[in-house]
Amino acid sequence: MTLTRAEKEEIKAAIEARIREIEASLPSLEDTAKPVEPDVSLGRLTRMDAMQIQQMQEANLQVARSNIERLHHSLQIIDTEQFGRCRYCKNMIGLERLKALPESTMCINCAEKFGR
Ligand SMILES: [Zn+2]
Repeated sequence: MTLTRAEKEEIKAAIEARIREIEASLPSLEDTAKPVEPDVSLGRLTRMDAMQIQQMQEANLQVARSNIERLHHSLQIIDTEQFGRCRYCKNMIGLERLKALPESTMCINCAEKFGR
């Protein structure tokens, strides 16, 4: 399967929209991923809860940042043979999947096998 010009444009638009979406979520992620201050007023949250949330948000933040990098990379290689290929089986990932989940680097079959 080769992508047509129009299909590539569609995917490109999906990638750019996804980058904007993730970038928009970064400030609030960065905010909640900050280390918990020892004297912070936590209300009903215990310090342990606050630290757990902070760790989760930090992980989310890392995922968000690596997704952005991956999406930028996809934009760079969109006109090459490499683009849209599964990193495991090297088959095409598929137009619908790329549009729905532009940061995916594996095809639906491998995603089912390996997760994500
Ligand atoms: Zn695959």
